[in-house]
Amino acid sequence: MKKLDYFLIVIYSIVAMCSFIFIMDKPIADNVHVEIYIDNDLWGVYELPKSGYKDILVKEKGENIVRIAYDGVAVIHSDCKGQLCVHQGFIKNSNSVIACLPNGLLVQLVGKEDYQIDMMSY
Ligand SMILES: [Zn+2]
Repeated sequence: MKKLDYFLIVIYSIVAMCSFIFIMDKPIADNVHVEIYIDNDLWGVYELPKSGYKDILVKEKGENIVRIAYDGVAVIHSDCKGQLCVHQGFIKNSNSVIACLPNGLLVQLVGKEDYQIDMMSY
C-alpha cells in the first residue's frame, strides 16, 4: 500500500469519528490544545490563547496559515487547489480535525482529558 493510500484511510477514519463526535454536539472544553501534523508527523503543538487569536504559518509541502483562536481553530489561508481546508472554517469541538490533503496538513483540536488519563497510569 502506498503511503498516500494509508494517509487517506487515516483521514477517512478520523472524519468518521468526527461526525460521530459532532452528533454528540460536545462544546469546546476549557483545556484543549492544537496539534498540527504534516504527513502524519507531529509538526507543532499550540495552546489556545485566552483571548483573541494567533496565526501560525505552516510552510512545508505547501503553505497554510492556521488561525488559533480562543474558541477554535481554522485554516485561513492555503495554496492548495480545492481550498476545502479554508472553506471548512473554524472547528470548535475537541478531537475535530481540519485536513488539507494536497499539503499533507492535519490540524486537530485535542482535549486534555486524554492526557489526564495518561498521567493516572504512572
Ligand atoms: Zn487545503
